[in-house]
Amino acid sequence: MAQDPWLLTPGPLTTSMTVKQAMLHDWGSRDAGFIRLNGEMRTRLVELIGGEASFTTVPMQGSGTFAVEAMLATFVGPADKLLILINGAYGKRMAKICDYAKRAYSILEWAEDQPVNPQQVAEALAKDPTITHVAVVQCETTSGILNPVAEIAAMVARAKRRLLIDAMSAFGALPLDSRTIPFDAVAASSNKCIEGVPGLGFVLCRETALKSCKGNAHALVLDLYDQWQVIESTKQYRFTPPIHCIVAFHQALAEHAAEGGVAGRGARYRANCKILVDGMRALGFETLLPDHLQAPIIVTFHMPADPKFDFQRFYDMLREHNYVIYPGKLTVADSFRIGCIGRLGAAEMTGALAAVKAVMAELGVASGSPKKLATSAE
Ligand SMILES: *Cc1c(COP(=O)(O)O)cnc(C)c1O
Repeated sequence: MAQDPWLLTPGPLTTSMTVKQAMLHDWGSRDAGFIRLNGEMRTRLVELIGGEASFTTVPMQGSGTFAVEAMLATFVGPADKLLILINGAYGKRMAKICDYAKRAYSILEWAEDQPVNPQQVAEALAKDPTITHVAVVQCETTSGILNPVAEIAAMVARAKRRLLIDAMSAFGALPLDSRTIPFDAVAASSNKCIEGVPGLGFVLCRETALKSCKGNAHALVLDLYDQWQVIESTKQYRFTPPIHCIVAFHQALAEHAAEGGVAGRGARYRANCKILVDGMRALGFETLLPDHLQAPIIVTFHMPADPKFDFQRFYDMLREHNYVIYPGKLTVADSFRIGCIGRLGAAEMTGALAAVKAVMAELGVASGSPKKLATSAE
Protein backbone atom coordinates (compact mmCIF):
# COMPACT_ATOMS: atom_id res chain seq x y z
CA MET A 1 0.00 0.00 0.00
CA ALA A 2 1.35 3.44 -0.94
CA GLN A 3 2.25 5.76 1.95
CA ASP A 4 -0.62 8.19 2.59
CA PRO A 5 0.41 11.85 2.41
CA TRP A 6 1.88 13.23 5.64
CA LEU A 7 -0.59 15.75 7.05
CA LEU A 8 1.26 18.83 8.32
CA THR A 9 -2.05 20.48 9.14
CA PRO A 10 -4.14 21.44 12.18
CA GLY A 11 -6.26 18.28 11.83
CA PRO A 12 -7.37 15.79 10.79
CA LEU A 13 -3.86 14.45 11.19
CA THR A 14 -1.66 11.52 10.30
CA THR A 15 -2.59 8.57 12.54
CA SER A 16 -0.74 5.35 13.36
CA MET A 17 -1.51 2.10 11.52
CA THR A 18 -2.71 0.56 14.79
CA VAL A 19 -5.22 3.39 15.30
CA LYS A 20 -6.56 2.81 11.79
CA GLN A 21 -6.65 -0.97 12.33
CA ALA A 22 -8.77 -0.56 15.46
CA MET A 23 -11.63 0.45 13.15
CA LEU A 24 -11.72 -2.84 11.21
CA HIS A 25 -14.63 -4.23 13.21
CA ASP A 26 -18.37 -3.82 13.48
CA TRP A 27 -19.62 -3.08 16.97
CA GLY A 28 -23.14 -2.78 18.28
CA SER A 29 -23.66 0.31 20.42
CA ARG A 30 -24.97 -1.96 23.22
CA ASP A 31 -22.00 -4.31 22.91
CA ALA A 32 -20.42 -4.89 26.34
CA GLY A 33 -16.93 -4.56 24.83
CA PHE A 34 -17.71 -1.18 23.36
CA ILE A 35 -19.31 0.03 26.58
CA ARG A 36 -16.13 -0.92 28.47
CA LEU A 37 -13.90 0.92 25.96
CA ASN A 38 -16.12 3.98 26.14
CA GLY A 39 -15.92 4.01 29.92
CA GLU A 40 -12.13 3.66 29.85
CA MET A 41 -11.93 6.53 27.37
CA ARG A 42 -14.00 8.78 29.64
CA THR A 43 -11.85 7.93 32.68
CA ARG A 44 -8.57 8.41 30.83
CA LEU A 45 -9.53 11.85 29.51
CA VAL A 46 -10.34 13.10 33.00
CA GLU A 47 -6.97 11.78 34.23
CA LEU A 48 -5.21 13.90 31.59
CA ILE A 49 -6.30 17.07 33.45
CA GLY A 50 -5.84 15.58 36.93
CA GLY A 51 -9.61 15.78 37.30
CA GLU A 52 -10.39 12.35 38.81
CA ALA A 53 -11.92 13.89 41.93
CA SER A 54 -14.14 16.51 40.34
CA PHE A 55 -14.52 16.19 36.56
CA THR A 56 -16.53 14.01 34.21
CA THR A 57 -16.08 13.43 30.46
CA VAL A 58 -19.13 14.17 28.36
CA PRO A 59 -18.53 12.93 24.80
CA MET A 60 -20.23 14.79 21.96
CA GLN A 61 -20.71 13.29 18.51
CA GLY A 62 -19.28 15.51 15.78
CA SER A 63 -16.20 17.64 15.13
CA GLY A 64 -14.56 19.86 17.72
CA THR A 65 -16.90 22.77 17.10
CA PHE A 66 -19.85 20.62 18.20
CA ALA A 67 -18.14 20.22 21.57
CA VAL A 68 -17.42 23.95 21.87
CA GLU A 69 -21.00 24.81 20.94
CA ALA A 70 -22.34 22.24 23.41
CA MET A 71 -20.05 23.62 26.14
CA LEU A 72 -21.16 27.24 25.64
CA ALA A 73 -24.84 26.34 25.22
CA THR A 74 -24.89 24.14 28.32
CA PHE A 75 -22.74 26.17 30.73
CA VAL A 76 -23.81 29.69 29.77
CA GLY A 77 -27.50 29.88 30.66
CA PRO A 78 -30.07 32.19 29.08
CA ALA A 79 -29.71 34.58 32.04
CA ASP A 80 -25.88 34.53 32.04
CA LYS A 81 -23.35 36.64 30.14
CA LEU A 82 -20.14 35.42 28.54
CA LEU A 83 -16.93 37.41 28.03
CA ILE A 84 -15.11 35.98 24.98
CA LEU A 85 -11.36 36.55 24.68
CA ILE A 86 -10.51 36.72 20.98
CA ASN A 87 -7.18 36.65 19.17
CA GLY A 88 -8.08 34.53 16.16
CA ALA A 89 -10.77 32.70 14.21
CA TYR A 90 -11.68 30.21 16.94
CA GLY A 91 -12.40 32.97 19.44
CA LYS A 92 -14.56 34.67 16.81
CA ARG A 93 -16.38 31.39 16.23
CA MET A 94 -17.42 31.33 19.91
CA ALA A 95 -19.09 34.72 19.43
CA LYS A 96 -20.94 33.35 16.39
CA ILE A 97 -22.08 30.37 18.49
CA CYS A 98 -23.50 32.80 21.08
CA ASP A 99 -25.35 34.66 18.30
CA TYR A 100 -27.01 31.41 17.21
CA ALA A 101 -27.74 30.29 20.76
CA LYS A 102 -28.94 33.81 21.67
CA ARG A 103 -26.59 34.09 24.63
CA ALA A 104 -25.56 37.49 25.96
CA TYR A 105 -21.85 38.14 25.48
CA SER A 106 -19.20 40.78 25.13
CA ILE A 107 -15.74 40.46 23.62
CA LEU A 108 -12.18 41.57 24.27
CA GLU A 109 -10.04 41.38 21.15
CA TRP A 110 -6.32 41.36 20.39
CA ALA A 111 -4.41 41.12 17.11
CA GLU A 112 -3.75 37.58 15.88
CA ASP A 113 -0.05 37.85 16.76
CA GLN A 114 -0.74 39.07 20.33
CA PRO A 115 -1.57 36.83 23.29
CA VAL A 116 -4.59 37.49 25.48
CA ASN A 117 -3.61 39.95 28.22
CA PRO A 118 -4.80 38.69 31.66
CA GLN A 119 -4.64 42.19 33.20
CA GLN A 120 -7.11 43.52 30.62
CA VAL A 121 -9.38 40.56 31.39
CA ALA A 122 -9.34 41.49 35.09
CA GLU A 123 -10.21 45.10 34.22
CA ALA A 124 -13.11 44.05 31.97
CA LEU A 125 -14.50 41.81 34.71
CA ALA A 126 -14.24 44.59 37.29
CA LYS A 127 -16.11 46.95 34.96
CA ASP A 128 -19.03 44.63 34.10
CA PRO A 129 -20.53 42.75 37.05
CA THR A 130 -23.15 41.12 34.78
CA ILE A 131 -20.49 38.88 33.21
CA THR A 132 -20.82 35.38 34.68
CA HIS A 133 -18.46 33.34 32.45
CA VAL A 134 -15.26 33.83 30.44
CA ALA A 135 -14.20 31.79 27.39
CA VAL A 136 -10.66 31.46 26.04
CA VAL A 137 -8.78 29.41 23.43
CA GLN A 138 -5.63 27.76 24.83
CA CYS A 139 -3.71 27.53 21.55
CA GLU A 140 -5.25 29.78 18.85
CA THR A 141 -4.72 27.53 15.85
CA THR A 142 -5.30 30.51 13.52
CA SER A 143 -1.73 31.67 14.21
CA GLY A 144 -0.36 28.95 16.51
CA ILE A 145 -0.12 31.37 19.46
CA LEU A 146 -0.20 30.11 23.05
CA ASN A 147 -2.50 32.04 25.38
CA PRO A 148 -1.53 32.32 29.09
CA VAL A 149 -4.41 30.16 30.33
CA ALA A 150 -3.08 29.76 33.90
CA GLU A 151 -2.82 33.53 34.44
CA ILE A 152 -6.22 34.14 32.83
CA ALA A 153 -7.79 31.42 35.00
CA ALA A 154 -6.34 33.02 38.13
CA MET A 155 -7.84 36.42 37.19
CA VAL A 156 -11.23 34.88 36.42
CA ALA A 157 -11.27 32.94 39.70
CA ARG A 158 -10.23 36.02 41.68
CA ALA A 159 -13.21 37.89 40.14
CA LYS A 160 -15.45 34.92 41.09
CA ARG A 161 -16.47 34.16 37.51
CA ARG A 162 -16.40 30.79 35.72
CA LEU A 163 -13.92 29.84 32.96
CA LEU A 164 -14.62 27.75 29.84
CA ILE A 165 -11.66 26.67 27.68
CA ASP A 166 -11.37 25.64 24.03
CA ALA A 167 -8.22 23.51 24.25
CA MET A 168 -8.87 21.75 20.95
CA SER A 169 -5.43 21.98 19.36
CA ALA A 170 -3.45 21.72 22.60
CA PHE A 171 -5.21 18.99 24.56
CA GLY A 172 -2.93 16.03 25.22
CA ALA A 173 0.25 17.88 24.22
CA LEU A 174 0.29 20.95 26.46
CA PRO A 175 -0.46 20.60 30.17
CA LEU A 176 -3.77 21.81 31.63
CA ASP A 177 -4.00 20.70 35.25
CA SER A 178 -7.43 21.24 36.82
CA ARG A 179 -5.91 21.01 40.32
CA THR A 180 -3.89 24.19 39.80
CA ILE A 181 -5.83 25.97 37.03
CA PRO A 182 -9.45 26.71 38.00
CA PHE A 183 -12.02 26.19 35.21
CA ASP A 184 -15.49 24.65 34.81
CA ALA A 185 -15.14 22.99 31.42
CA VAL A 186 -12.65 22.30 28.65
CA ALA A 187 -13.55 21.18 25.11
CA ALA A 188 -11.37 19.16 22.73
CA SER A 189 -11.68 16.47 20.05
CA SER A 190 -10.48 13.05 18.96
CA ASN A 191 -8.45 14.09 15.95
CA LYS A 192 -5.83 16.54 17.18
CA CYS A 193 -3.01 15.89 19.66
CA ILE A 194 -4.41 12.57 20.85
CA GLU A 195 -4.00 11.40 17.22
CA GLY A 196 -7.35 9.67 16.74
CA VAL A 197 -9.60 10.00 13.72
CA PRO A 198 -12.24 12.75 13.41
CA GLY A 199 -15.79 12.22 14.65
CA LEU A 200 -15.88 12.77 18.40
CA GLY A 201 -15.70 15.92 20.45
CA PHE A 202 -15.70 15.87 24.25
CA VAL A 203 -16.10 18.30 27.10
CA LEU A 204 -14.48 17.66 30.46
CA CYS A 205 -16.90 19.19 32.93
CA ARG A 206 -16.63 20.07 36.60
CA GLU A 207 -19.46 17.97 38.02
CA THR A 208 -20.64 20.52 40.56
CA ALA A 209 -20.98 23.10 37.78
CA LEU A 210 -22.59 20.74 35.27
CA LYS A 211 -25.19 19.73 37.88
CA SER A 212 -26.68 23.22 37.79
CA CYS A 213 -26.93 23.35 33.97
CA LYS A 214 -30.15 21.42 33.53
CA GLY A 215 -32.42 23.03 30.95
CA ASN A 216 -29.82 25.58 29.73
CA ALA A 217 -29.08 24.15 26.27
CA HIS A 218 -31.08 25.52 23.33
CA ALA A 219 -30.59 22.35 21.26
CA LEU A 220 -31.35 18.77 22.26
CA VAL A 221 -28.33 17.22 20.54
CA LEU A 222 -25.96 19.75 22.15
CA ASP A 223 -27.27 19.34 25.69
CA LEU A 224 -24.27 18.14 27.70
CA TYR A 225 -26.35 17.83 30.84
CA ASP A 226 -28.78 15.41 29.19
CA GLN A 227 -25.97 13.53 27.43
CA TRP A 228 -24.22 13.16 30.79
CA GLN A 229 -27.31 11.99 32.66
CA VAL A 230 -28.14 9.34 30.04
CA ILE A 231 -24.57 8.04 29.70
CA GLU A 232 -24.18 7.86 33.48
CA SER A 233 -27.44 6.03 34.06
CA THR A 234 -27.61 3.72 31.01
CA LYS A 235 -23.95 3.59 29.76
CA GLN A 236 -25.54 4.26 26.36
CA TYR A 237 -25.42 7.26 24.09
CA ARG A 238 -28.70 9.07 23.43
CA PHE A 239 -28.09 8.95 19.67
CA THR A 240 -25.86 6.74 17.48
CA PRO A 241 -22.24 7.07 18.69
CA PRO A 242 -19.40 7.19 16.12
CA ILE A 243 -18.30 3.75 17.26
CA HIS A 244 -15.33 3.22 14.94
CA CYS A 245 -14.01 6.64 15.86
CA ILE A 246 -14.38 5.95 19.61
CA VAL A 247 -12.65 2.56 19.35
CA ALA A 248 -9.80 4.17 17.39
CA PHE A 249 -9.67 6.99 19.97
CA HIS A 250 -9.37 4.42 22.76
CA GLN A 251 -6.37 2.93 20.93
CA ALA A 252 -4.93 6.41 20.35
CA LEU A 253 -5.20 7.12 24.09
CA ALA A 254 -3.29 3.90 24.85
CA GLU A 255 -0.54 5.00 22.44
CA HIS A 256 -0.56 8.47 24.01
CA ALA A 257 -0.02 6.88 27.46
CA ALA A 258 2.74 4.63 26.09
CA GLU A 259 4.54 7.70 24.76
CA GLY A 260 4.56 9.22 28.25
CA GLY A 261 1.22 11.03 28.23
CA VAL A 262 1.09 14.80 27.92
CA ALA A 263 4.80 15.22 28.70
CA GLY A 264 5.92 12.64 26.15
CA ARG A 265 3.59 13.82 23.42
CA GLY A 266 4.51 17.46 24.05
CA ALA A 267 8.22 16.64 23.89
CA ARG A 268 7.89 15.02 20.44
CA TYR A 269 5.88 17.97 19.14
CA ARG A 270 8.40 20.46 20.55
CA ALA A 271 11.19 18.57 18.80
CA ASN A 272 9.16 18.54 15.55
CA CYS A 273 8.50 22.27 15.86
CA LYS A 274 12.17 23.07 16.43
CA ILE A 275 13.28 21.06 13.39
CA LEU A 276 10.64 22.81 11.30
CA VAL A 277 11.33 26.37 12.45
CA ASP A 278 15.13 26.03 12.31
CA GLY A 279 14.96 24.44 8.86
CA MET A 280 12.53 26.99 7.41
CA ARG A 281 14.56 29.90 8.83
CA ALA A 282 17.65 28.43 7.18
CA LEU A 283 15.74 28.67 3.87
CA GLY A 284 14.97 32.35 4.55
CA PHE A 285 11.38 31.97 5.79
CA GLU A 286 10.20 34.00 8.78
CA THR A 287 7.69 32.96 11.43
CA LEU A 288 4.80 35.24 12.33
CA LEU A 289 5.40 34.72 16.04
CA PRO A 290 8.49 35.12 18.20
CA ASP A 291 9.55 31.79 19.72
CA HIS A 292 8.24 32.59 23.22
CA LEU A 293 4.64 32.95 21.94
CA GLN A 294 4.78 29.94 19.59
CA ALA A 295 2.96 26.78 20.69
CA PRO A 296 4.54 23.57 19.34
CA ILE A 297 1.36 22.79 17.38
CA ILE A 298 1.29 24.71 14.11
CA VAL A 299 3.62 27.41 12.78
CA THR A 300 2.58 30.42 10.68
CA PHE A 301 5.13 31.60 8.10
CA HIS A 302 5.03 34.88 6.22
CA MET A 303 4.57 34.52 2.47
CA PRO A 304 7.92 34.95 0.68
CA ALA A 305 8.36 38.23 -1.23
CA ASP A 306 9.87 36.61 -4.35
CA PRO A 307 7.23 37.04 -7.12
CA LYS A 308 8.13 33.56 -8.41
CA PHE A 309 6.65 32.11 -5.22
CA ASP A 310 3.09 31.06 -6.07
CA PHE A 311 1.44 29.52 -3.01
CA GLN A 312 -0.98 27.29 -4.90
CA ARG A 313 1.90 25.80 -6.96
CA PHE A 314 4.04 25.47 -3.81
CA TYR A 315 1.18 23.66 -2.10
CA ASP A 316 0.45 21.36 -5.07
CA MET A 317 4.11 20.49 -5.59
CA LEU A 318 4.60 19.69 -1.90
CA ARG A 319 1.54 17.46 -2.17
CA GLU A 320 3.24 15.61 -5.01
CA HIS A 321 6.15 15.05 -2.62
CA ASN A 322 3.56 13.57 -0.21
CA TYR A 323 3.39 16.47 2.26
CA VAL A 324 0.18 18.42 2.89
CA ILE A 325 0.51 21.90 4.38
CA TYR A 326 -2.18 24.46 5.17
CA PRO A 327 -3.13 27.91 3.90
CA GLY A 328 -3.03 30.88 6.27
CA LYS A 329 -6.15 32.15 8.02
CA LEU A 330 -4.78 35.47 9.20
CA THR A 331 -6.14 38.91 8.62
CA VAL A 332 -2.91 40.64 9.77
CA ALA A 333 -0.51 39.15 7.21
CA ASP A 334 -0.31 37.05 4.04
CA SER A 335 0.83 33.67 5.34
CA PHE A 336 0.71 29.89 5.27
CA ARG A 337 0.90 27.28 8.02
CA ILE A 338 2.79 24.05 8.65
CA GLY A 339 1.72 21.80 11.50
CA CYS A 340 3.97 19.68 13.70
CA ILE A 341 1.31 17.45 15.32
CA GLY A 342 0.04 13.99 14.40
CA ARG A 343 1.99 10.74 13.96
CA LEU A 344 5.09 12.59 12.74
CA GLY A 345 8.65 12.58 14.02
CA ALA A 346 12.09 13.88 13.10
CA ALA A 347 12.21 11.83 9.87
CA GLU A 348 8.96 13.31 8.55
CA MET A 349 9.86 16.88 9.55
CA THR A 350 13.27 16.57 7.91
CA GLY A 351 11.60 15.05 4.86
CA ALA A 352 9.15 17.94 4.67
CA LEU A 353 12.02 20.45 4.79
CA ALA A 354 13.83 18.62 1.99
CA ALA A 355 10.62 18.76 -0.05
CA VAL A 356 10.24 22.52 0.62
CA LYS A 357 13.82 23.05 -0.53
CA ALA A 358 13.31 20.97 -3.69
CA VAL A 359 10.06 22.75 -4.55
CA MET A 360 11.67 26.18 -4.07
CA ALA A 361 14.41 25.15 -6.51
CA GLU A 362 11.79 23.96 -9.00
CA LEU A 363 9.96 27.30 -8.65
CA GLY A 364 13.23 29.23 -8.97
CA VAL A 365 12.75 30.88 -5.58
CA ALA A 366 16.13 31.57 -3.98
CA SER A 367 14.89 32.56 -0.52
CA GLY A 368 11.74 32.29 1.56
CA SER A 369 12.36 35.77 2.96
CA PRO A 370 9.21 37.89 3.18
CA LYS A 371 11.24 41.09 2.74
CA LYS A 372 11.39 42.67 -0.70
CA LEU A 373 14.96 42.90 -1.93
CA ALA A 374 16.05 46.53 -2.19
CA THR A 375 16.56 47.58 -5.80
CA SER A 376 19.05 50.25 -6.93
CA ALA A 377 16.13 52.57 -7.73
CA GLU A 378 15.03 52.66 -4.08
C1 LIG B 1 -9.68 22.51 15.35
C2 LIG B 1 -10.17 23.50 16.32
C3 LIG B 1 -11.54 23.60 16.66
C4 LIG B 1 -12.61 22.70 16.09
O1 LIG B 1 -12.60 22.57 14.74
P1 LIG B 1 -13.47 21.43 14.03
O2 LIG B 1 -13.15 21.69 12.59
O3 LIG B 1 -14.88 21.64 14.35
O4 LIG B 1 -12.97 20.11 14.52
C5 LIG B 1 -11.90 24.51 17.62
N1 LIG B 1 -11.01 25.28 18.22
C6 LIG B 1 -9.69 25.22 17.94
C7 LIG B 1 -8.75 26.09 18.69
C8 LIG B 1 -9.23 24.33 16.97
O5 LIG B 1 -7.92 24.25 16.70
